[in-house]
Amino acid sequence: MDTTAALISDALEAGRAEKLGGEMEYIRFRDAHAGVARGTVVAGKKTIRGYPHIKRIFTLENGLRRNMLDDELYAEEKIDGFNVRVAYVDGRVFAFSRGGFLDAFVTEKARESGFERFLREHPDAVLCCEMIGNTPYTAPAKGYDVKMYVFDIELGDGTYMSCGQRYELVKKYGLLSVPLLGRYRRDDYAGLRKLALALNRGRKEGMVLKGVHGRSTVKYVTPWSDIEDIANASGMLFDMPIGFFYQRVLRSAFFMKDFGLDRDRYARKLGRAFYDGLEAALEKAGRGEGVDEEFEIVIRNPEIWNDLHRHMSQDVKLEELWRKRDPSGRTRIRFRKIYRKTTKTLSAYARGKGITD
Ligand code: ATP
Repeated sequence: MDTTAALISDALEAGRAEKLGGEMEYIRFRDAHAGVARGTVVAGKKTIRGYPHIKRIFTLENGLRRNMLDDELYAEEKIDGFNVRVAYVDGRVFAFSRGGFLDAFVTEKARESGFERFLREHPDAVLCCEMIGNTPYTAPAKGYDVKMYVFDIELGDGTYMSCGQRYELVKKYGLLSVPLLGRYRRDDYAGLRKLALALNRGRKEGMVLKGVHGRSTVKYVTPWSDIEDIANASGMLFDMPIGFFYQRVLRSAFFMKDFGLDRDRYARKLGRAFYDGLEAALEKAGRGEGVDEEFEIVIRNPEIWNDLHRHMSQDVKLEELWRKRDPSGRTRIRFRKIYRKTTKTLSAYARGKGITD
């Protein structure tokens, strides 16, 4: 895939790409176009490819039999954050969201997190990272600010560095890697089953299984994370995509069946996940308050707060709760996101609105 000038102008004309500004000008592919993935960014002479989807398996053994082409695989922990790509553009570090937006917040963190040295020495590479911590999208952290786990390195030509080489380089440059859980034969079902159960007990999201020769990658998540996601999202149900809840109930049912987990225990957990979140939301709506979630960020450049407002979905209202300056000149901001659709719908029902189903 070459992002030639003709292809870009075609995509712009078809409305599948757009020109954006900020700290620099770039083109963002808001949709796939002529072999160019959604989320691809073209900045000057540089193309930062959209990160590909990873196939999900619902059942471990058959899923591996059918999808894992390599004889051996690396099992990595699947970190539950958000996907960012960090790259060098004209000798400066920039970070982009999965959808291809230049993210001022992540860019500031990446510049402070030691990515500079790596990219100076590997200017064509794109570091694909999962970010967690005090960010506008993940639960506030205690004991650290943010973490950016490198899970892939794209070499600038659409190919990816082998896992083995990536683990070495990430270590050499003092960056943070997604945890490597082990190397397994693809048919070591007993070993991988044990690992899946340990991840579930350890309250981890799951694992990403990557063939050692890079021919296949699959993801497999735990029922703990399925139910945790439901618990966190049930209160904002009208702001969630269709299928969010159903998908997770299905995944957890597969896992429960495959591993013979205690069905009644999980049924109770699942019920609570739905009802606890909903009850909290109904109470807020009943008091005339917004259905919300709180976040906290620490920023150096005050413009980032405005950038966040600009990029937040129309469905979410940001409300600052407090801000504090620390002696180093950074500002800590606590804010809440109010989910408009859920707030509006639940408040109307709480005030007695009737609907014809
Ligand atoms: P899709 O990949 O189909 O777009 P999605 O965006 O909903 O799905 P997930 O279902 O969470 O994402 O799974 C894929 C994502 O998991 C990757 O894009 C990456 O952001 C994240 N991830 C976390 N840990 C890893 C890891 N060890 N290896 C690869 N990806 C990881």
